[in-house]
Amino acid sequence: MNPENEVKTCPVCDGAQIGTPFTSLPSFLECRNCGLLFQVRHKDDSSLNRAYEDEEEDASARRIQAEEEERVRYYHDLFERIAEGHPQPGRVLEIGCGTGGLLQRFQKAGWQCEGIEPSPRLRRIAEESFGGSVPIHSERIESIEMDLTSIPYDLIVGIDVIEHLADPVLLPKKCFEWLKAEGTLFLQTPNAGSIRRYLQRESWEQLAPDEHLFIHTAQSLKRLLESTGFREVEVIPFSGSTTDSPARSVAMKSIGTLLRWMGMNNGLWASARKGKE
Ligand SMILES: [Zn+2]
Repeated sequence: MNPENEVKTCPVCDGAQIGTPFTSLPSFLECRNCGLLFQVRHKDDSSLNRAYEDEEEDASARRIQAEEEERVRYYHDLFERIAEGHPQPGRVLEIGCGTGGLLQRFQKAGWQCEGIEPSPRLRRIAEESFGGSVPIHSERIESIEMDLTSIPYDLIVGIDVIEHLADPVLLPKKCFEWLKAEGTLFLQTPNAGSIRRYLQRESWEQLAPDEHLFIHTAQSLKRLLESTGFREVEVIPFSGSTTDSPARSVAMKSIGTLLRWMGMNNGLWASARKGKE
């Protein structure tokens, strides 16, 4: 069945102009209005993101573990970027916290940390690195129930998570519920408007049919967060990768400045405030 026949409107902006931009990857649809690239899959589809929970098959977790030393700089830069708007430490939750590398930066800066990580291998590394001082929940965000009688969060961070979820609204909705009145959500995700998407076309690595279901543009992500109720939504394109060397990192910053002018960097950073209730 061609999914294009079933999908009449964009799940983010309700736009009716839906096309199939990649002939060899017909499951990917594109909204001509907000630029969102998306696949329509049932939320219980067992083929999705399976590798993350299966320790033997979890190549992604093994790669992250092997790269950990090279990722130190990445965690540092990411922490600086997120902490910019949060001079006072508070309570932070990271969804998909991996080995806990980013949360460690928060803990050092005095934050009270908590993580969600469904991969058993990564969760074990995170738990060991914190010596049990940071709760790491094993449930997926789709099924987790948080105890909201305890103090909700000042900050929720989701690095490369939202593109994996079958329901595009789930993560922003849950985060909105879990944040304090003045709390902030910070997301990082691939950019559907990136220059690599146009140069590499169907071989673009982000077009992973069983992993990435929603690849946002700055426009679609802003719209999604605002329609969930968030205020002060800011979406900034950025360049760089987890294991850039210092020299490459400097080069990427220069190229990134040019690409940012065009909105075509490889990733998006989004920050959004819940606002007064
Ligand atoms: Zn749209």
